[in-house]
Amino acid sequence: MQWVVHDAAGRDLASDADYMDLALRIAQDAGTKGEVPIGAVVVHEGEVVAFAANRRERDQDPTAHAEILALRQAGQRLGSWRLNDCTLYVTLEPCPMCMGAAINARLGRLAFACRDPKAGAAVSLYALGHDDRLNHRMIVSEGARREVASSLLSRFFAGLRGGDGSLDPGQAA
Ligand SMILES: [Zn+2]
Repeated sequence: MQWVVHDAAGRDLASDADYMDLALRIAQDAGTKGEVPIGAVVVHEGEVVAFAANRRERDQDPTAHAEILALRQAGQRLGSWRLNDCTLYVTLEPCPMCMGAAINARLGRLAFACRDPKAGAAVSLYALGHDDRLNHRMIVSEGARREVASSLLSRFFAGLRGGDGSLDPGQAA
């Protein structure tokens, strides 16, 4: 996928909401394949360099979260594991494992859509993106397309349970 939105001077013209929309489309597609619908996109200088969905069920891999897969792809695509100049967009607040991967990638910025009160490690249970005891801090932004992301998860879990509609995103992480 080539998805570049910048002007002649290289300024990024896409908004957080635009990138989150892309992550949400990827998430939605994964939902139709029996995965908890979570999608991630990595943007470097206005260019999408990686995108991935949660593949835990398909791969039977406990580490196959969208963020991990997208960070790996970004490292390969950019030829560097250091992602200081990248933003990771993800539809649900990352879990401790994924925040660990983002720290190890020296990620510049994390943007997530909705919180995960049961497993979120960016703001909810931990604030691993800016913990002074760790050797890396990143910018953390939340809320772009929050309602859309949250209702995508609610509908998915309601479908699994036959429709009581309550959100339990803890199952997602
Ligand atoms: Zn995770």
